[in-house]
Amino acid sequence: MPELPEVETVRRGLAPVMEGAVIEKAAVNRPDLRWPFPERMAERLTGQRVERLRRRSKYILADLAGGETLLVHLGMSGRMLVSGDPLGHFVHDHPAPEKHDHVVFDMQGGARITFNDPRRFGAMDLMPTGAEAEHRLIAHLGPEPLGNAFSETYLVAALREKNTAIKAALLDQRIVAGLGNIYVCEALYRARIAPTRSCRRISAARIASLVPIVRQVLDEAIAAGGSSLRDFRQADGELGYFQHNFDVYGREGLPCRTPECGTPIRRIVQSGRSSFYCPQCQR
Ligand SMILES: [Zn+2]
Repeated sequence: MPELPEVETVRRGLAPVMEGAVIEKAAVNRPDLRWPFPERMAERLTGQRVERLRRRSKYILADLAGGETLLVHLGMSGRMLVSGDPLGHFVHDHPAPEKHDHVVFDMQGGARITFNDPRRFGAMDLMPTGAEAEHRLIAHLGPEPLGNAFSETYLVAALREKNTAIKAALLDQRIVAGLGNIYVCEALYRARIAPTRSCRRISAARIASLVPIVRQVLDEAIAAGGSSLRDFRQADGELGYFQHNFDVYGREGLPCRTPECGTPIRRIVQSGRSSFYCPQCQR
């Protein structure tokens, strides 16, 4: 499942072909993904200039000149493919249509953006621009982890009295938006906090230390995604997934990378999801 850095990488990859460009033709090949598409979606998108691509949590928001905003969620398996871009951001030709190509945008000038989603957990919706804070998928979300509202003061206040494990609290989208399993594991490893530790039993100073660490973990992954952009422009035009080396995630049984430690990384299941941590370094 794409996490925030992957979604931001998709946004950055789409921006040069979409921002300022007109959707000459939008093709919508089925009535729904996870939920039904909005009424007359193809007609409402066709002929619209994309003014700006934004991101809120794991949603990409495309502001259209006509006053509506398109929300795109990649779901579990959604992929964006870019082809035929005459400006050379993407050098390959249009691929043959595939079975799960659900939405296709032909941009004025020749670029094509194809949304392919075999498992159909993705979503698209239209709303008035500026109304995203009230949208049902966004209204409940906490602050962006890379935004100013996610401050040390905020996080200490949000977690201080909580009687839940720190891992679950950081995955709670009402507390901070867009953090997923991988990057929470990585942040807790760097902060040397055990994923099972109750928020109430962590000092304010240690909770505060998570704020710069969360930002750093995400910034590094976004940078890795950015450097991958060059590769897929030349490969198959697919946006959104890139190789990234994790310090703890997926390393069960391998030695901890902290100098002088080397303890085997442990995996446990919390709320149905794997937590990877070093039982020596993280307390
Ligand atoms: Zn260790």
